[in-house]
Amino acid sequence: MFAIVTCPECRNNRMIDLSSGNTSCPYCGKRFDTDRLQIKFKHPDQSVVRDVLFGSEAVPTSKDSDNPMKGLAYKVSHASDPGMKMSYIADGLSEIYGEFTVDMIDELVPGKGEKYAEAMLEACMIYEVGYGRFRKI
Ligand SMILES: [Zn+2]
Repeated sequence: MFAIVTCPECRNNRMIDLSSGNTSCPYCGKRFDTDRLQIKFKHPDQSVVRDVLFGSEAVPTSKDSDNPMKGLAYKVSHASDPGMKMSYIADGLSEIYGEFTVDMIDELVPGKGEKYAEAMLEACMIYEVGYGRFRKI
């Protein structure tokens, strides 16, 4: 699990690996136990955490940090092209839910869930397991 924390000493935001136990700040050199740092955002995917850290001025508050959909929505909204968005959606939703619906896709690409589902079916990225329920291929 990776997280964004603010250094208590120099107030810089940075990414840490929560499994490492303790970490030293690259800005001020102080060493801290990871469980004593206040976590602003966390996600198992290092690239999502990096995107949030470097892509956004407003780092989400810890209140949202346990919502994996939030991290995924952020990643999808910052993907450079529709193909990339579709692969993030297919990978992300199957990781979080296993099977997913158009409504869940719609949460990630508001108003375009149906269109994206169709395009992903056409691109053979997902298949319909039952009525209105999809899975990644
Ligand atoms: Zn520091």
